[in-house]
Amino acid sequence: MLNRICGVILLIVPCFVYGQKSRCLVQQEQPINNAYKHGHGSTRLENEVLTINVVVHVVYSTDEQNIPDEQIHSQINALNRDYRRLNTDASLTLEVFKSVAADAGILFKLASSDPLGYSTNGITRTFTDKPFFEGDNSLFFDSLGGKNVWDTRRYLNIYVTNLADSFYGFGTFPGTDSLVDGVAIDYKAFGTQGNLAEEYSQGRTATHEIGHWLGLTHLWGDGQSCDVDDGLSDTPLQEAPSAGCDLGKTSCGTLDMVQNFMDLSDDSCMNLFTKGQALLMHENLKKFRSDVITSSIVLSSKNIDKQMVKIHFAGNEIVINSSQLIYAYKIVNLTGLVFVDKKRVGRKTINIPLSNDISGSMLLIHIEGQHGYTVSKLIIP
Ligand SMILES: [Zn+2]
Repeated sequence: MLNRICGVILLIVPCFVYGQKSRCLVQQEQPINNAYKHGHGSTRLENEVLTINVVVHVVYSTDEQNIPDEQIHSQINALNRDYRRLNTDASLTLEVFKSVAADAGILFKLASSDPLGYSTNGITRTFTDKPFFEGDNSLFFDSLGGKNVWDTRRYLNIYVTNLADSFYGFGTFPGTDSLVDGVAIDYKAFGTQGNLAEEYSQGRTATHEIGHWLGLTHLWGDGQSCDVDDGLSDTPLQEAPSAGCDLGKTSCGTLDMVQNFMDLSDDSCMNLFTKGQALLMHENLKKFRSDVITSSIVLSSKNIDKQMVKIHFAGNEIVINSSQLIYAYKIVNLTGLVFVDKKRVGRKTINIPLSNDISGSMLLIHIEGQHGYTVSKLIIP
């Protein structure tokens, strides 16, 4: 079925209909070409973590749909859990797939400045008189009852709203028209708290839809046959989507990876991305969405878990979050110019405002904890 709305042709692809509301009904345009679909040529550096600048647009017609900030924060936490493989159910990944399971090295941070540079909590709220949204573009436009996107080159736009009865989410692929580029999640499948549908209560509809936004297709390649694939060698061939949590399901002669975030199993069943998926997402972020990310790489560390120190750039400040107390930190650029040098800090979160324009620069950040240190490289977009 082809719809033409606002000058954009949408290809409507039913994921699968089980007679109930499906996780992901619509994918808009698949402009992926084979050059970057197959993950040739690694551009992912060891220990590199990419942080995505996020805005959440709540578009509501009832009080219940106007979900609280805490529910939105629970979704960001769920994304940071799943995309760093810090999910506690990672231990449940079937033994046969453990060797390909990956820390995708991606984090999400609500924006701290809006497109005009004003301070924000990264959340917008818009009342609409539309009772629900179909999988068309109206959600992306003020004039059609939705909310205009924030500059899609600089923000991942996540919409939370009441979606039509047949689906819980959709996501656009890299290369989508910049006016309609983002993901949409039903308010009953967003976050890990609140009034949520039981099978979609762990925030993994967003994990899945953002996977599309980062260029991942469904495991079964949307072909409903063993001749069509997702193009990645470390996800097994799969004929059709899964439902529920059928861990023993086979198709195409091998065990299906029903725990993968890009299948359609229940939230409680999903727990992994693969190395191939992680590499492809990093490639796509750098090629197509480079302005939404901050890159940080741990160069060396001693006695501090490198996953537990998170560094990113948020508009006009550098933010450091650590699981241990930070005792001292120092930021220098590659010519040795010292930006900041603080001792006796004693905090876990540090916000460092920057007065100079440092766009396009590379900084070294040395952080000292009680028992050790890390040195990281931060690349400012
Ligand atoms: Zn999907």
